[in-house]
Amino acid sequence: MESFSEPLVKQREFFQTGKTKDVAYRMQSLTKLGQVIRSHEAEIMAALKKDLNKSDFEAYMSEIGILLEEIRFALKNLKKWSKPQKVKSALAQVGSKSYIYPEPYGVVLIIAPWNYPVQLSFAPLIGAIAAGNCAVLKPSELTPETSKLISELIEKTFPPEYITVLQGDAETTKLLLKEKFDYIFFTGSVPVGKVIMEAAAKHLTPVTLELGGKSPCIVHKDANLKLAAKRIAWGKFLNAGQTCVAPDYLYVHREVRDEFIVSLKDAITEIYSEVVFKSGNFTRIVSERHFKRLVTFLEDGKIIHGGRKNTDLLSIEPTLLSDVSWDDPVMQEEIFGPILPIFEYDNEVAMINKINERPKPLALYIFTEGMDFQETILNSISFGGGCINDTVFHLSSPYLPFGGVGESGMGAYHGKGSFDVFSHHKGILKQTTTFDLPLRYPHRKNALKQLKQFIK
Ligand code: NAD
Repeated sequence: MESFSEPLVKQREFFQTGKTKDVAYRMQSLTKLGQVIRSHEAEIMAALKKDLNKSDFEAYMSEIGILLEEIRFALKNLKKWSKPQKVKSALAQVGSKSYIYPEPYGVVLIIAPWNYPVQLSFAPLIGAIAAGNCAVLKPSELTPETSKLISELIEKTFPPEYITVLQGDAETTKLLLKEKFDYIFFTGSVPVGKVIMEAAAKHLTPVTLELGGKSPCIVHKDANLKLAAKRIAWGKFLNAGQTCVAPDYLYVHREVRDEFIVSLKDAITEIYSEVVFKSGNFTRIVSERHFKRLVTFLEDGKIIHGGRKNTDLLSIEPTLLSDVSWDDPVMQEEIFGPILPIFEYDNEVAMINKINERPKPLALYIFTEGMDFQETILNSISFGGGCINDTVFHLSSPYLPFGGVGESGMGAYHGKGSFDVFSHHKGILKQTTTFDLPLRYPHRKNALKQLKQFIK
C-alpha cells in the first residue's frame, strides 16, 4: 500500500457525522469490546501461547483481566466523565458561568508493542472509544498470531470507518505517520518514541509516549526480606522480564544482601520451578534477535542463579547477576528479559545519586518498613510511578495515572486518565446578557483605577 489516506478519509467522514460522540454509542462500543474479548478468551490465550509461550494464567492476569476491569470502570463512570464540568468563575467575570467541555480529538492512531500485545492495544483503545474518537490501531509485527487475531476481532465488532487495525512493521508505521492524525498514542521503546514525536511534530499532532528504561528496585536493610524476594521474583520474571515496568536492576543494602539473595533464589524456584524449560509455562523471548541480545548479557558480572538458555525454545531461565559494573553492556540499555543484576549499597546518598545520573526511570520500587526512607526516595528521585513494598502492581489500578517522565515517556493513562488523554478539554465561559459590567471598557473616567480595585 502506497498511502493510508483512504481509510483515514473514511474515518474523518464518520467522525463528522457525530455518531462517535454520542455517549450511548460509546457505551455500546465498550460493551461490545468487552463481549468480544470475553467470548474469544480461549483464542486470545492460544495466540499469546503461540507468539510468546505465555501461560493462560499470565494471559488472563496481565492482559485479558486488566482490560475487562478497565472496560467495567469506564462503563461505570463514562456518563459522569463526558458531561461538561462546572467550575468557578473569576471575580472580575461576575455574572458568568464557566465549564470544561471534554471533546474527542477526532481520528487517533494507537501504536502498540509486542510484550503485552493485547493489553497494550486495547487499553488505549478503551480510552479512545470512551472519549468519542475514531481509531486506527497498529499492533506489533513481532506477535503475528495475536496481531492477526486483534485485527479479526476488531473487524467483526466495529465498522472500519470507526475503528480499524492496520498491520505491519516499522515501514508501515512510517508510512502511516505521514498522515495527519488528531492524536497519537505510542507504546514502545525510547528510540522509536523519538521517531514518533518527530513525525507528529510535522503535523503538530499531540502525543502520548509510553516508553521504557531501566527501572531500579531498592531493598533496604529494614525490609521484610522474604516478602520482598517473592514480590520481586514475581514482578521481574513475569513475562520473562519483558515488562516495561519490571525491575531492571536491584540495589540491596549491604547488611541484608546475602540473606536477601537466598530468599530471592528460593522465591524464583517456588514461583517458576527448578527448570523453566520443562515446566512449559515460562514465557519465551519474543525473537531470535532479542534472544541473542540477552544472551550477551549473561557474560556480564557473575551468574549467581540460573544462567541456562535453550536456543530452540528461545528461552532463558530467571538469572541473577552479581559483580556487575555500571559500564557493562547489561547496564547500558533496558534489559527487557529474565536477567537481574544486583548491586549493593550502604551509603543512601551515593545510591540515590547513582540512580539520578541516569535518565528518569519509568518505575521505581522501594522495599522498606521505614516511612522516612520511603519519603527520602520519593522526594529525591523523579520517576514515572511505582510501588512501596511491591512491584508492577501500580499499573493495574484504574485510580493511578500510569506513564513515564523525562526519557521514560510523557502523558499517562488508565481509568479516567485514559478518557482524559483522548479528550481535548475545552474551556467555555457562558456570559450573562442581563447586565454588562463596565470594568473592561477603557473609555470611562478612572477606568484603570477601578480595574486595579478588581484585579490586584
Ligand atoms: P518498539 O519501539 O520497537 O516498537 C513499538 C511499535 O513501533 C511497534 O508497533 C513497531 O512496529 C513500531 N516501530 C518499530 N520501529 C519503528 C520505526 N522505526 N518507526 C515507526 N514505528 C516503528 O518497541 P517494542 O520492542 O515493541 O517494545 C518494547 C519497548 O516498549 C520497551 O522499551 C518497553 O519498555 C516499552 N514498553 C513500554 C510500555 C509502557 O507502557 N510504558 C509498555 C510496554 C513496552
